[in-house]
Amino acid sequence: MDLKTKLREVPNFPKEGINFIDITTVLQDAEALKECIDVMKAKIESFGDYDLIVGPESRGFIFGTPLAYAMGKGFVPIRKKGKLPYKTISVEYELEYGTDMLEMHIDAIKKGQKVVIVDDLLATGGTTKSNIKLVEQLGGEVVGIAYFVELSFLNGRDKLKGYNVESIVSY
Ligand code: AMP
Repeated sequence: MDLKTKLREVPNFPKEGINFIDITTVLQDAEALKECIDVMKAKIESFGDYDLIVGPESRGFIFGTPLAYAMGKGFVPIRKKGKLPYKTISVEYELEYGTDMLEMHIDAIKKGQKVVIVDDLLATGGTTKSNIKLVEQLGGEVVGIAYFVELSFLNGRDKLKGYNVESIVSY
């Protein structure tokens, strides 16, 4: 199945000049959703053995949790500031105007655990870079990063040099 044909492009959302890749048209299509998770799973298997999938709010949850379930692994959420109930570690990340914080529970990853990061889409790579910082702060090892979609013209991979990066649909 050509999953690209199942994605919807929404021009000028959330603002002028951005071509938004809408994954909801894949999520609502049973066959496309299954294909997407199955192909992402195969990509993650190519990273070798690992312990946990880590996914950022909120679309990282949509893909990360079913993949963790399908592969018999645990899932760790990364959330925006103030959402996680227990003790957290945090990292600052750049927004268009100013900065915000991403957080992870302090006991979510044990030193030496192997981690795969999953998100819906690679754009500039800024979000993933922050996710890597959180995992590595706790002594986790990022063995691979898997996306459904990659906007290759934004060169996000340049920010992620030295890491195994896989995606299944590229623009
Ligand atoms: P970045 O940190 O620039 O790699 O952007 C990462 C996040 O922003 C992704 O996880 C997406 O959820 C969202 N995003 C950025 N650009 C787009 C786009 N053109 N279409 C849909 N989502 C996007």
